[in-house]
Amino acid sequence: MDLQAIWLAALGELELTLSKANFTTWFRNTSISSFDNGRVIIAVPNTFTKAWLEKKYHDAIVKALRHVTSNAVREAHYKVEMRTASDVQHSPPASEPSTGWEPDTSHSPAPQTEPADDAGLNPRYGFDNFIVGKGNELAHAAAMASATNPGEAYNPLFIYGGVGLGKTHLLQAIGQHVLKTRNGAVVRYITCERFTNEFIQAVRGGRVKEFKDRYRNVDVLLVDDIQFLSGKQGTQEEFFHTFNALHQVNKQIVLSSDRSPKDIQSLESRLLSRFEWGMITDISTPDFETRIAILEAKCAGKSYPLNAEILRAIAGTVQSNVRELEGTLNKIIAYHQFKNIQPTMDTVQTLLQSFVPTVQKRSITPRKLLEIVIQYYDITMDDVLGKSREKRFAFPRQVAMYLLREDAKCSYPAIGTHVGDRDHTTAMHACNKILSLLEKDEQTKRDVAIIREKIYSDQAA
Ligand code: ADP
Ligand code: MG
Repeated sequence: MDLQAIWLAALGELELTLSKANFTTWFRNTSISSFDNGRVIIAVPNTFTKAWLEKKYHDAIVKALRHVTSNAVREAHYKVEMRTASDVQHSPPASEPSTGWEPDTSHSPAPQTEPADDAGLNPRYGFDNFIVGKGNELAHAAAMASATNPGEAYNPLFIYGGVGLGKTHLLQAIGQHVLKTRNGAVVRYITCERFTNEFIQAVRGGRVKEFKDRYRNVDVLLVDDIQFLSGKQGTQEEFFHTFNALHQVNKQIVLSSDRSPKDIQSLESRLLSRFEWGMITDISTPDFETRIAILEAKCAGKSYPLNAEILRAIAGTVQSNVRELEGTLNKIIAYHQFKNIQPTMDTVQTLLQSFVPTVQKRSITPRKLLEIVIQYYDITMDDVLGKSREKRFAFPRQVAMYLLREDAKCSYPAIGTHVGDRDHTTAMHACNKILSLLEKDEQTKRDVAIIREKIYSDQAA
């Protein structure tokens, strides 16, 4: 019985119910250390994590473990197992948990696969295990070009797209490639959130010079999730200077974001124009063939072959993003390994049906949903409920109506009432319009995906 497989599967479930920041903070560097007689011992890196898991996530953890082991788990306990000194130092402060080093490695709890090296790179993400297909081929080609000719091909390279589509993977792959091919090159990967935190702490601690040196003396700077700069003036200013310092001497800058530069709200125009200097490429949801290819590659990596029919069933059900595709596959494999049975279409279909609704079951209140939508589009409640037909209000209003229907399960008349006392035919029209846009328009797809991510992470919090 593979303990790691059970834990991976359980993490896959937990991930769906937690915000990404929480998930990464509390479940990084955890593993199952033993499993006897229905009793699971979960190894955690420090007492702080132990206390949090016990206090806050215990029920969810037990539930997930039971689910993935068909109730073989009865109880869970936590034990601090110190692996390296650095694990201990990483314990986050009590008030605001920092996500620490985090290339979104949602499915790799095993500490040995996560060496937080000085460059911030994780060997798990390379070009060699990145599947190229429709949706990501341009981003991949641009990433390759920047990795082979850093500073010369496209500078900056800006990759944007929805969650779980491989942005972090590509940034990391660029870093690995440069390190492998250029002796002595200095590469630094950092999330924008971490960059911001470090900067704030440097200012407070009077260590700004060290901070500047750290990010300006590199050959390749990879900054993940740059949309986090939105509204953070001080950090934008600092990043602007970092950018200039590197760009002037032809050092490669690669940025990722969940939206295009011009859609990042309250981004200074001088930064926006710099992001537009180089190459901007988007990455979109993989098509069916690519999803199959990804599944095949992941199966091969785990030496767990699944037949074509089963792969098609998984790829047909999980369409949203690669992270979810991977998570689903992990759960399916873990389940069959645990039961010690061969996967069949029947067992897989049953599992698929039990996984998919977990995301949709929880419902959200209309009010809360509207709040998330206006926050995303940076408009006010009056704007969304009001009468203006200007596109910047009308479109978010239609997205809100669509989500009220799909995610809050409201009737058309109820939607009309919630959104500024409108007629039910207006609600129907809005839903149909967004539905058809979702089939062809990447921007709409992305908007809806990001808003949904927020809806479900808030639900869980
Ligand atoms: P993002 O940063 O866009 O949210 P990630 O880079 O974290 O997404 O990708 C989520 C997961 O999916 C990671 O485990 C990553 O390795 C995997 N993944 C994404 N795209 C691909 C791909 N084209 N081929 C192989 N694995 C991929
Ligand atoms: Mg990412």
